[in-house]
Amino acid sequence: MSELFREFMDQAREEDRTYLMEHECKAILESLGISSTRAFVARSEEEAVEMSDSIGYPTVLKVISPKVIHKSDAGGVKLDLKDAEDVKRAYGEIATSFGDENLIGVAVQEMAPPGIEAIVGVTTDPTFGPILIFGLGGVFVEILQDISLRSIPLSELDAEDMIEEIKGISLLKGYRGYSADIPALKRLLLQISDLVMKNPEIAEMDLNPVFLYPSGYKVVDARIITGERPEPPKEPVSKQDLHDLFYPKSIAVIGASGTKGKLGWNVFRNLIDHNFRGELYPINPRAETIQGITAYPSISDVKAPIDVAVVLVPASITSEVVKECCDCGVKYVIVESAGFAEMGETGRQIEEDMVAITKPCGCRILGPNCSGVINTYCSMVQSIGIVDALSQGNIGLISQAGVCAAGMLWGLRHVMDFGIVATIGNKLDINETDMLEAVSMDDNVDIISMYLESVKGGRRFIDVAKRITKTKPIIVLKAGRTEAGRKAVTSHTASMAGNDTVYEAVFKQAGIIRARDYEHMFNLTRAISKQPLPEKEGVFIITYAGSLGVISADAIIDNGMKLSELEPELKERLRDLLPEYVGGMNPVDYTFSMDAETVRRTIEIGVESEDVGSFIVVLQAEVLGSYVEPLGDIDYKGKPVMACVAGKEFAIDDVIKMEKAGIPVYQTPEQCADAIAVMHRYWLKSR
Ligand code: ADP
Ligand code: MG
Repeated sequence: MSELFREFMDQAREEDRTYLMEHECKAILESLGISSTRAFVARSEEEAVEMSDSIGYPTVLKVISPKVIHKSDAGGVKLDLKDAEDVKRAYGEIATSFGDENLIGVAVQEMAPPGIEAIVGVTTDPTFGPILIFGLGGVFVEILQDISLRSIPLSELDAEDMIEEIKGISLLKGYRGYSADIPALKRLLLQISDLVMKNPEIAEMDLNPVFLYPSGYKVVDARIITGERPEPPKEPVSKQDLHDLFYPKSIAVIGASGTKGKLGWNVFRNLIDHNFRGELYPINPRAETIQGITAYPSISDVKAPIDVAVVLVPASITSEVVKECCDCGVKYVIVESAGFAEMGETGRQIEEDMVAITKPCGCRILGPNCSGVINTYCSMVQSIGIVDALSQGNIGLISQAGVCAAGMLWGLRHVMDFGIVATIGNKLDINETDMLEAVSMDDNVDIISMYLESVKGGRRFIDVAKRITKTKPIIVLKAGRTEAGRKAVTSHTASMAGNDTVYEAVFKQAGIIRARDYEHMFNLTRAISKQPLPEKEGVFIITYAGSLGVISADAIIDNGMKLSELEPELKERLRDLLPEYVGGMNPVDYTFSMDAETVRRTIEIGVESEDVGSFIVVLQAEVLGSYVEPLGDIDYKGKPVMACVAGKEFAIDDVIKMEKAGIPVYQTPEQCADAIAVMHRYWLKSR
């Protein structure tokens, strides 16, 4: 904590104040080289005039009182004082109005020339800690909500992005005589981030307004609200990278059942049916064998090392069972039973007990209330719902809900190939951030999709994700976007940062691709897991019907991409392929006279073009099957291709074949264009 800050803090504490006043804040800012209108404290009319004389007119007088936090609302700001007479009158008015309110004095300051009004604020988010907010002032912020935010600390790039993201960016860059000193603004954002990092007592901060000029800026008003920053969420340090959780040599299933229909039956059946490549120990005191495998009355009866214990007993006896697992040296306990914190106080107490039991022995808990882990590379399926045969793939799926590892896989497995599917449930010990870090380290996984309802890792989530997205894309579907239950916040800027706005910002900060809904998440997952990233903006569209070509072209532009333009000699080659009645070269519209051979030759022309970064091929559902092999065999030379098939749900067998051949199939041109644009933007950022 800086010297000056401590001094003001002590003073505030003495006066039972939870905020620093304008003149104090500005003194702190000035000490850091942040330019402001300053504020000299005058305690008499004469002092006010003297100070104004030496500052130079016009000046501004403002009330200084620990009781007045919003000065102009209370009539405590007197602007544009042109001479000593004005100053005297203003002083008198303030003294009369606030005489009974612990008037400390009057702040005398220069009248800043008008500039672009901006705000810089800090708020504390319960999940991610301190958040920096930047926005344009006045109607921009009130009506247009033109703000951008980032979790503190900021990188240089974060500061640049915050400025670039503002809707009024063209005003900042220069419009009709207005412009802002963007490098100076960037420095200001980084300095505030730094100030907050060094002074954890800053709970909220409001520089409102800051006037931006073509050269430099001036902080005109400043306020700091102090508080105890909530402890950052505890990070369970993962000493191991969860390797043995993903590749266990032995699994005990406590509560394995021989009765069809029970969850204990399902889990064990899944492990057997998928041919888990390790030792299996069903634990059940009431059975000799479970589904043909020798059962043990308790885990301590298994006289062999156990890497993972899946626990399926009722919540009330889970602690006992977990204790036994610890005694037997089990490395990971996966509690798939439900009935814990999500049910209320009793369940929460059991969770606490489990943590107390496992902590000392280094045993890690996954769940409770989860559906275990799937790893196709060791044929391991622990799901509570029956899962049919899976193919090995490069997708890592991390899900807070069990449904992703069972119900949804029933269908998805036809068109997507997973490496690891990890459910995290209540995240009692292993949270989403631990899991993300661990899954990203698996060599089989090239892309990670996450379904999240909350984030427990706090700022570490951002740092971990940011590191991963440099090489492996992360797609997140974050549910619970409403702001219900969010505490009312006092500061103007803080109240603008709704919970979802913060998630939106930190996802950007971490380079995460945010999915809008389940369908979007898996649409993107399919495309990214199967196809290379488009390195160029240009999209080449080949269609059997004009209208779908037009819609595709619109969708390409709407998504910020462009139609590619073939080089003259390639145009020549294409013309030889086209029927006489076809004019356009992109989209290439074959008007129902299209076949797989023509499409192959057209694509091969596009592959040669410098301007083509990707392909959209609009295909007829009724003959989709005839395209599977020819399109699958083309050498695209690292350029992605997406198929658009209207009515694809009626040709599902061929759709599956196409997907298995590595070409994602979408219902609409918009979905194709969206996927290509998302992939291109990711490529640009991760380069
Ligand atoms: P409040 O506590 O009400 O936010 P401010 O100090 O922000 O008080 O003053 C209210 C408004 O008066 C500011 O938004 C700004 O437009 C104007 N203002 C305040 N101080 C100055 C100054 N030194 N120079 C120019 N304008 C000022
Ligand atoms: Mg203000």
